[in-house]
Amino acid sequence: MIGAGPYGLSAAAHLRAVKGLEVRVFGEPMAFWQRNMPVGMLLRSNWTATQIACPRGALTLEAYQNATGDRFSTPVPVDSFVRYGLWYQCRAVPDLDRRKVVRVERDGAGFQVALEDGEVCHSRRVIVAAGIGTFAWRPPEFRDLPASLASHTSVHRDFAEFAGKQVLVVGGGQSALESAALLHESGAGVEVVARRRRIHWLQGTLSKTLHHGLGEFTKRLLYAPTDVGPAGLSQLLARPNLLQGLPRGLRDKLWKRAVRPAGARWLVDRLREVPLLLESSVVSAAPAGGRVTVRLHDGSERTVDHILLGTGYRVDISKYAFLSPGLAQSIDRANGYPRLREGLETSVPGLHILGAPAVWTFGPLMQFVSGARYASQALVRAIAGKN
Ligand SMILES: Cc1cc2nc3c(=O)[nH]c(=O)nc-3n(C[C@H](O)[C@H](O)[C@H](O)COP(=O)(O)OP(=O)(O)OC[C@H]3O[C@@H](n4cnc5c(N)ncnc54)[C@H](O)[C@@H]3O)c2cc1C
Repeated sequence: MIGAGPYGLSAAAHLRAVKGLEVRVFGEPMAFWQRNMPVGMLLRSNWTATQIACPRGALTLEAYQNATGDRFSTPVPVDSFVRYGLWYQCRAVPDLDRRKVVRVERDGAGFQVALEDGEVCHSRRVIVAAGIGTFAWRPPEFRDLPASLASHTSVHRDFAEFAGKQVLVVGGGQSALESAALLHESGAGVEVVARRRRIHWLQGTLSKTLHHGLGEFTKRLLYAPTDVGPAGLSQLLARPNLLQGLPRGLRDKLWKRAVRPAGARWLVDRLREVPLLLESSVVSAAPAGGRVTVRLHDGSERTVDHILLGTGYRVDISKYAFLSPGLAQSIDRANGYPRLREGLETSVPGLHILGAPAVWTFGPLMQFVSGARYASQALVRAIAGKN
């Protein structure tokens, strides 16, 4: 297993419950959540969707809270989620190997896996659960700017460094909006530029009525515990096997609808004093004496200290540097995503990929923590008894 985030940990816990399998897990546990998300961030997913799935249901958020006395509720603060993940790891994968995998190559019927210190091991199967960190998207208009002038949201842990600075945030999704709120609260002067005509805020009047006004039964009917997608659609997206049977065009439409850029309702008040420039985009950005001058599509210009790119992630598995070029090229792909079969197995037998890269085949559930249950159980079904 390469990676020890929610998917790697959950899958390892499920596989270890299967007799006869030897499972080794590599990577820093919860590293992406600890290093690439900002202090003060709140999870958007609800309580049930923030549980890291485990085979006998013993490693829940409630069990964590009872065992440690660490109290929190929704929205779950990122630091609390990290502590829960580390607690989960200590119980499910206590012998985790923190070394980084630097190279995976085919080796007969299996794989050769090289670690950062030069050790090489062999494995019948390799499961990639390496997350989205490598896929941070930096649009071309910002590529030539140094990191001191333009950086992706994922490289920041603490926005205090921007106190007293002018920062332009690019993007209209949760990451951009929450970063803007945190920057503002850290004492930066902030403006948000987004292409969208309006910001879509989650849990509006309709959704609130469906959640609270129609009672528990109706709510359960419309929303799956996985908490991905709007009323009704949520139930379909929670069943990747059903989704897989739909025509490609329809699946793409549902995907787009399910994860359209949106901000959590609790950001509205926090952004009241932050100007949001909508239906706008940056056409060029150039260094200007230690600052950066930005030209917008309406011809207006502003000079700021920094541009923060809340421009999201674009999956392209050839960017996983640990996959040897030969191996990466031999994986059947569509738009950078692997085409997967049962057990989230790629076209290379024995090579599985979990998490966001599985979205193309199994739908948007796979890019959220709550998708780890389906992925882990599907892995077990495909692997148990075959090795
Ligand atoms: C700002 C932000 C907010 C989010 N909020 C939510 C939310 O509220 N709810 C939700 O469900 N999802 C949220 N997500 C999505 C979230 O990233 C995924 O749900 C989750 O991280 C997927 O888990 P994962 O295990 O696939 O990846 P990750 O958590 O990224 O874990 C991957 C692991 O692999 C390790 N790794 C990578 N390369 C190697 C290597 N070569 N060798 C060894 N180890 C390696 C990394 O160190 C890391 O620990 C958010 C994402 C972002 C960017």
